[in-house]
Amino acid sequence: MNSIEYIIKYLNELFPDPKCELVYNNDYGLLIAVVLSAQTTDKKVNKVTSVLFNKYPSLTALKEAPINDLRALLKPLGMYNKKALFVKHLASELIDKYDGAVPDDRASLESLSGVGRKTANVVLAVLFNKPYIAVDTHVARVSKRLGLVSKQDNTLQIEKTLSRLIDDNSLAKAHLQLVLFGRYYCMAKKPRCINCKLKKICKYEKKHFI
Ligand code: SF4
Repeated sequence: MNSIEYIIKYLNELFPDPKCELVYNNDYGLLIAVVLSAQTTDKKVNKVTSVLFNKYPSLTALKEAPINDLRALLKPLGMYNKKALFVKHLASELIDKYDGAVPDDRASLESLSGVGRKTANVVLAVLFNKPYIAVDTHVARVSKRLGLVSKQDNTLQIEKTLSRLIDDNSLAKAHLQLVLFGRYYCMAKKPRCINCKLKKICKYEKKHFI
């Protein structure tokens, strides 16, 4: 068994049925939640979106929402001026160009307000179960510690390497597993190395293993 097979096997043991921790009730709800998650935590996004989607329960309602009210609702997430505009524009674009549906290809997704490569990849993997991997801070950290990529690699290089190493059938699932592993086991500070089964292949400083 090579390293990546060993890692995937362990991730399957820890997270046999991984789920995205952003709460959403429909496709556009996930897209907006991912856009709002820039530079903040899923927990904070879930708190805000539960109020946002309750007050504005459709794309039309979001499109017509007063910008100042959106700003106030999104304030706890930071970058709220930008995020408020993204929400309004996204709602308009989805209604006008896609009949209210979330498109399932990267080019269309990336043409939407506030949607970059990472957001597009999350949506393609989570909503459409397509073979894409989004590289966030957790995926990058874990991949570097495990020596799957080099320490200097940027997010695009990491994405390309992981997409090559991991089987297409496992890629969308591996994305969620690596995020959860980084969030709850291989944290930035004080990773839980002692009981980690990846210790023997991990390149992280050995002093953390004892
Ligand atoms: S041994 Fe520690 S640093 Fe390495 S993957 Fe496991 S938790 Fe992360």
